[in-house]
Amino acid sequence: MLLLIPGPVQTSAEVKAAMGVDIAPWDLDFRREYARIRERVRDLAGGVEGVHATLPLQGAGHFMVEAAIRTFVPPAGKVLIPRNGTYADRMIRLAREAGRVPMVLEVPDTRGVRAGEVAAALEADPEISHVSLVYSETGSGVINDPRPVGKAVRALGRRMILDAVSAFGALPFDIAAQPECDAVLFTSNKCLEGMPGIGFAVCPMERARERAGLAGSWSFDLGDVLRTAETAGWGSFRFTPAAQALHAFGVALDLHAAEGGREARLARYTANMRVLRSGAERLGLRPYLTPEEQGPIILTLHQPEAPGFTLQGFVDALKRRGVLISNFYNTPVPSIRIGCIGAVTPDDMRRALVAMEAALVEMGVRREAA
Ligand SMILES: *Cc1c(COP(=O)(O)O)cnc(C)c1O
Repeated sequence: MLLLIPGPVQTSAEVKAAMGVDIAPWDLDFRREYARIRERVRDLAGGVEGVHATLPLQGAGHFMVEAAIRTFVPPAGKVLIPRNGTYADRMIRLAREAGRVPMVLEVPDTRGVRAGEVAAALEADPEISHVSLVYSETGSGVINDPRPVGKAVRALGRRMILDAVSAFGALPFDIAAQPECDAVLFTSNKCLEGMPGIGFAVCPMERARERAGLAGSWSFDLGDVLRTAETAGWGSFRFTPAAQALHAFGVALDLHAAEGGREARLARYTANMRVLRSGAERLGLRPYLTPEEQGPIILTLHQPEAPGFTLQGFVDALKRRGVLISNFYNTPVPSIRIGCIGAVTPDDMRRALVAMEAALVEMGVRREAA
C-alpha cells in the first residue's frame, strides 16, 4: 500500500526492519544510543552543544505542543496564536485547557500569516508573552514562515513556540539564528520518516532550566526532562520510552543524512508535490491554494462537484488500487487531502495519479481517456 497521508507516513524497509528487536531502555548501550540521538536531533535543529538541548517525550506531537505551552507560557499567561487552519485550532484548545489564555489572530486559511500582523497584535497587548506558530499548517498545506515572524517577535522582546511537526527535517529551521524561540517541536514521524511514538522539543537550556516545576504537570514539564538529563544522564528516561521506535529512529536519521539531509528531503517532497499538483490539475481537480502559497507537505484539492463523487467512495476506489489517502478534510469547503511526505518519490506520485484517474472514471466523474 502506498500511504499518502501527513503521518504516520510511509517508512522505508530499513526503518521497519529496525523495529524487530527487544530492548531494555536502561541498558548502557541503549542509553548511549539515545543520548546520541538527542545530539543528532539538536544538530538538525541548528542547536549548539551546551546551549540547546533535545527534550523528548513519549507520544504524539500534540503532547509536545501542550508541554511547550505549559513549560514556557506562565500560568494564566497570554499566548498569541495565528489561526489559519485546524492545527492552530488544536493549539488554541491545548492552551485553554492548560489554563493559559489563547489570543487568536485570525488569518485566512489560504495564506501564511504576515510578520506585520503578528507585530501589530503584540504591540496592541503587552501582556502577551509568547507567539505560538504552526510552521506547516497540515489543515490546508499553507506555510507560516517562522523567520520573519520570529524577527518581529524578537524585536518586540517576546518569545516564540514553533509547532514544526509537519515541517521539521524538510523545511529550514535554525534555532541558533532564532534566539526568540523557546521551543521547536516535532516528532519521530512525518518528515524524519521514523516510526510514530516519540515527540521532540529542542530548547535553549537556560530557558528550560529556569521554567522547571512551573508546568502544572510532571508529565509535560520540559524543564523536568532537562533536569533529569542533567542529573541522571542524557541517556536516561523518566518513564518507559518507545524503545523500538527510538532504535528505528536512529536508522531514519541515518537515511535522512544519506539522502543529503534537509535540503535533499525538501527537494524530494517539493518534486512529489509538483508532480501531484500538476497531474491533479490535468485530471480536472482544482488545488485549494495558489502556487505561491502551496507548501511541499500537503496538497489540498477541491472535491469535484459531480453528483457521483463522495470522498469515502474516492478513498475506497484508490485503496482498491493500492493508494491510501485521508478520508476526511480540514478546510471549510469539501476538499481532498493528499500527503507528499514520507518514503515516497515522484514515481509513486505518478502511480497515484493513474489510480486517481481510474477512480474518477469508476465514479463517473471523469470520462475514460480516448
Ligand atoms: C501531525 C501534526 C501535529 C501532531 O499530531 P499528533 O497526531 O499529535 O502526532 C501537530 N501539528 C501539526 C502541524 C501536525 O501536522
